[in-house]
Amino acid sequence: MEVTTKIDAVLKGLKRIGIKNGNIHYQLSPDELVEQTLLRGEGVLNDTGALCINTGEFTGRSPKDKFIVKDERTANTVDWGGFNIPIAENYFINLKAKLSTFLSHKQEVWVRDAYACADERYKLNIRVINENPWSNLFCYNMFLRPKEEDLEDFVPDWHIIQAPSFLADPATDGTRQNNFSIVSFTHKIILIGGTGYTGEMKKGIFTILNYILPYEKQILSMHCSANIGNEGDVAVFFGLSGTGKTTLSADPERKLIGDDEHGWTDNSVFNFEGGCYAKCIDLSAEKEPEIFNAIKPGALLENIVFLDGTSTIDFANKSITENTRVSYPLSFISNAAEPSIGGLPKNIFFLTCDAYGVLPPISKLSPEQAMYQFISGYTAKVAGTEAGVTEPKATFSTCFGAPFLPLHPGFYAEMLGKKIREHKVDVWMVNTGWSGGGYGVGKRMKLAYTRAMITAALNGELNGVAYEANPVFGMLVPKICPNVPSEILDARNTWADKAAYDEVANNLAKQFVENFEKYKAGVSEGIIAAAPVVNG
Ligand code: ATP
Ligand code: MN
Repeated sequence: MEVTTKIDAVLKGLKRIGIKNGNIHYQLSPDELVEQTLLRGEGVLNDTGALCINTGEFTGRSPKDKFIVKDERTANTVDWGGFNIPIAENYFINLKAKLSTFLSHKQEVWVRDAYACADERYKLNIRVINENPWSNLFCYNMFLRPKEEDLEDFVPDWHIIQAPSFLADPATDGTRQNNFSIVSFTHKIILIGGTGYTGEMKKGIFTILNYILPYEKQILSMHCSANIGNEGDVAVFFGLSGTGKTTLSADPERKLIGDDEHGWTDNSVFNFEGGCYAKCIDLSAEKEPEIFNAIKPGALLENIVFLDGTSTIDFANKSITENTRVSYPLSFISNAAEPSIGGLPKNIFFLTCDAYGVLPPISKLSPEQAMYQFISGYTAKVAGTEAGVTEPKATFSTCFGAPFLPLHPGFYAEMLGKKIREHKVDVWMVNTGWSGGGYGVGKRMKLAYTRAMITAALNGELNGVAYEANPVFGMLVPKICPNVPSEILDARNTWADKAAYDEVANNLAKQFVENFEKYKAGVSEGIIAAAPVVNG
């Protein structure tokens, strides 16, 4: 590649979107980006050589500040309301101009060409323009990395323009606050400002793929992790944040396809991304060796704290946020599939972290129950109340990914239902949450047991065993499972107070039914009949 002509072409491209900055760092290596971050005093290395930075005010996504431009293209295709917040095009154009001017006046900016979708047929070229080097390192880690020879005639399909220190003015910019993430499907640009949380960039691209792939290419996009067994059998793991997608897909016995975003075609499952974004809270080498060992030079840690006077990470420390994270390229996981594509799924797992502790730790779903659960998208968070008392709160996030889905949930659900029937996929529900009582009484399910249950399901060891239908939620619960004590398989059995269990289960069943009201009109009788049974 002729370096100067390439840089000239990139500069020209940037000018076209309004960025006139002659001092760009184009396509730097991780080493260079780390060095620059250190020089700028924006990060430090931990004792295993990974870069540690703070993302600033925002240590998580801000769904209320994520907008989609409502224009001719999106007005009648996006499912407005909920997480899909409209913004008028004039605000987008105005903010794009302001953000571009802001970056034009910076001493230097970081530019990177990358792509999404490991399946060549759906490749989406992305050019990111960042205000700082560590955000650019995140993009290196998380997006797919083009080969040197592919850069020469690289033409971006989409741009991400990102500047954490640029603040919008809600009074004139049409935003809610100073921070924003705005997607324009017409301009093919994502604008991000006022937040340094890197996850906004990856979930921004995920959002656009959740529109483009199902709507324009008839490919199902999914908020899930995926891996491949020795026999080539693919498993996908759907689940909301914190339910175990990243943790459970990292399995020494199986090749990792990806930990968060995938597409399902007629003959494959493919990763959208080129890296993982793992939670670090309470991370240990014993329980999660693959992730722990990925914390090495090139990895980017966010918002972690060191043990006093050392550069050793205190994984238990939540003083900045509970959402401490590390991003790293897929190759940092020793058994990653390369390229990150697998065949058709044989097993699907719906992961839920039920803080009420009433759902069975593993169960098998009928196709109708699978659709009911997919549309419901249940998990429970442990929410703090004003009095400082924490108690579980049910979250229903349709298709296990409502914040990232621009289309009506029926779009995704219908595609998944068809695929499950067509390919006779086994669907399991796994409760990675509480057992022996809800939050405060019981304990979170041991990771080793959850792993053993998933392994048993994948190896066919749950095929021959006896099952019993859960009287409230309907799914089939195995009576025995290799390497798991039988007494924990029935959630009710683990509660000392059975009456309390029945009350909490009934209460959760009610919440399922209430939440499902809005979907009833659009689904079959069979799916409606898969609802939990409510008493009184
Ligand atoms: P996100 O979408 O935010 O990336 P995720 O679904 O990938 O979320 P993980 O990063 O896998 O979620 O988080 C699961 C967390 O729960 C990890 O910190 C893991 O150590 C912890 N955990 C504790 N017990 C279990 C269990 N039984 N199964 C799975 N995870 C568990
Ligand atoms: Mn994850």
